[in-house]
Amino acid sequence: VGLSAAEVKAETARCLHCDCRAKDDCDLRRLATRYNAKQNRFSGRRRTIQAVQVGKHLIYDPGKCIACGKCVYLTAQAKETFGLTYFGRGFPMKIDVPFGKTIDEALSTSTAKRVIEECPTGALCSVNPGGL
Ligand code: SF4
Ligand code: SF4
Repeated sequence: VGLSAAEVKAETARCLHCDCRAKDDCDLRRLATRYNAKQNRFSGRRRTIQAVQVGKHLIYDPGKCIACGKCVYLTAQAKETFGLTYFGRGFPMKIDVPFGKTIDEALSTSTAKRVIEECPTGALCSVNPGGL
């Protein structure tokens, strides 16, 4: 189903990051569309953009993370030695790998697959556009 001209205009003002691998199954995008969310409605501080991490299996783009905690829960459930965890509190809080380890040291292949499936945005996605 195509978009009308008005819908294209509204979408490009909000998302349409055509390079985002989650653009077809992003919950954030789906819900923002459903509730007509506008990212400029509330002005104020913005989070500092952090570097994208690229591993063997997945790409972690912190700029797309909404701190839902699903990946933290799943890596703990899988009993990963390092996994992913919360750093800091409040506004600057971020999700990252503890002890300065790499994303590859943090996640086994099966856990990487799981967090890619469950991440509601494109923050955790497969290096292979076809999936792991
Ligand atoms: S993660 Fe962000 S850029 Fe990617 S589809 Fe969702 S809202 Fe758009
Ligand atoms: S599952 Fe995705 S959006 Fe949720 S905290 Fe982890 S990286 Fe962020």
